[in-house]
Amino acid sequence: METSMNRRNFLKAAVASGAVLVAGGALAGCAPSGGGKAGSASEGDSVVGTSPVSFTEETDVLILGTGIAGMSAAMDPVEAGHKVMLADKLDRVGGESFIACGVMNVSGSKMQKDAGIPGDPEEKWKAYLPVLEKKGETDDMDYKHNVYVYQTEWADRVAADYGGKFQPLADYKDTGAPTSMLLPEHGIGDMTTVLTPLQKGLEEKGATYKLNLRATNFIVDKDGTPIGVRFHDEKNDKNVDVKASKIIVATGGFSCNQEMVSTFVPSQARLGPLTVYSMGEGHQMCKALGGSYMHMDMEANLMSDLAQVTVWGYFGPNVQVTPQGKRFIKEDQSHDSPTACYEGGFGYWWTIFDNQLITGSQAWNVELNMKNNADRLVGPCDTLDDLAAAMDVPADALKATFESYDAQVAAGEDKEFGKKLFLQSLSAPYYAMKHFPYRYKTHGGMKITTDSQLTDKDGTPIPNVYCCGSTVADSGSDLSPNAASGLISGKAVVEALKA
Ligand SMILES: Cc1cc2nc3c(=O)[nH]c(=O)nc-3n(C[C@H](O)[C@H](O)[C@H](O)COP(=O)(O)OP(=O)(O)OC[C@H]3O[C@@H](n4cnc5c(N)ncnc54)[C@H](O)[C@@H]3O)c2cc1C
Repeated sequence: METSMNRRNFLKAAVASGAVLVAGGALAGCAPSGGGKAGSASEGDSVVGTSPVSFTEETDVLILGTGIAGMSAAMDPVEAGHKVMLADKLDRVGGESFIACGVMNVSGSKMQKDAGIPGDPEEKWKAYLPVLEKKGETDDMDYKHNVYVYQTEWADRVAADYGGKFQPLADYKDTGAPTSMLLPEHGIGDMTTVLTPLQKGLEEKGATYKLNLRATNFIVDKDGTPIGVRFHDEKNDKNVDVKASKIIVATGGFSCNQEMVSTFVPSQARLGPLTVYSMGEGHQMCKALGGSYMHMDMEANLMSDLAQVTVWGYFGPNVQVTPQGKRFIKEDQSHDSPTACYEGGFGYWWTIFDNQLITGSQAWNVELNMKNNADRLVGPCDTLDDLAAAMDVPADALKATFESYDAQVAAGEDKEFGKKLFLQSLSAPYYAMKHFPYRYKTHGGMKITTDSQLTDKDGTPIPNVYCCGSTVADSGSDLSPNAASGLISGKAVVEALKA
């Protein structure tokens, strides 16, 4: 949906501030009037740090960010034979996607079908619609639909065409764990086994990666049409200008930008950020180009600082308690505990587990966390009294919690909190890990068209610029929806390049 538009008045201010750079001189119709009056500029005046545009590289498709969204956006353009460059500000690829827990909600993939698990993404979408309607998230349902159903295509293509490795569903399909969840090869916390093959496969098909390049400004031509991006080369401390026919912004969310969080999601401003990379830089660049923010105040779930421990409840039994030894949530919804802990103001909470988790389908990850977070681990403890002492919680309260929990297990129903998965008793030796709540993702992002082209506040597309992943409002801000949103941008760019 490419259109050209006159955004000169808006861009005039952006150019003057240095937020947007013009190739080859002033924006047509926006030339400084000179004369030294207040409010006007003289020839030769410039904003410090904004040296004249000088392209050193040119590509068909330039992707900002190498997380799951950016890499997925590269798939179709690379496969169609276009020259694709992926740039990242870090000295490694993968962004937050590489360090994610790896739980991917997909239905009807070949892996699932081969394991005898039925599922049709279109049917699932129909079942999901009322959830969105209840939440009032009903704008651009076509985009949301495409994000939803492309998750399946993404998983199939990454596995078949790029060699991405997923955990065999046989490992957990009969344990009571959700079979709508795909995991990387060794289970929770192993995203590199999915994304490294994708990264390398893209490279083999011709994509190039440029690391240590921080995108700082869009470059527009004299008519205000985006034609490239200026980067700061973080290693060599110099500017690099790259010319591109199409630009895809996949720079992640803004959960690490304290100013943006305080402005848009003040309810989470007092929480620390779990990572350091999601600074909303793509958001700000797009805004400077005339793009518009959407749903910036939508609160995202919270996470534990031991993120992977938070998702164990989908794959094995555990009991979670407050510092006072009391159960406070159903343990089979990963985000309930950090949110309840934060809202309840009790600072931290414990996940108590036993050998069922240690030897279960996520054994690799449980062992990893017990080793890497030994300072947060207590156990093995042979009795609940020993466990309570090690956790420094009141023993009577902890024993009462277990008595009540075991009674619900015996009754086959968790009347207190409604836990459905792994409503099973624990037995000695007991272990526990302590967590703290953090913010880890955001939902708000750029307003886009159904095919992911950046728009201004009126919905008018801005030429040549597309957005995906946590940079857009409706991507779901999770791994597989962000991957699907990347596919949408990649497909749109391939179509646009045909024109
Ligand atoms: C600890 C943790 C666990 C999680 N677990 C899960 C899970 O189990 N399941 C799930 O569905 N989701 C999970 N998530 C959320 C999920 O990881 C994110 O939704 C997803 O990774 C975002 O993908 P993305 O490609 O949009 O962004 P990212 O993966 O963050 O990629 C953005 C990239 O852009 C780069 N970048 C940023 N600014 C610039 C710039 N100016 N110039 C150049 N490059 C730039 C960054 O360096 C980064 O590499 C988790 C998140 C965290 C933090």
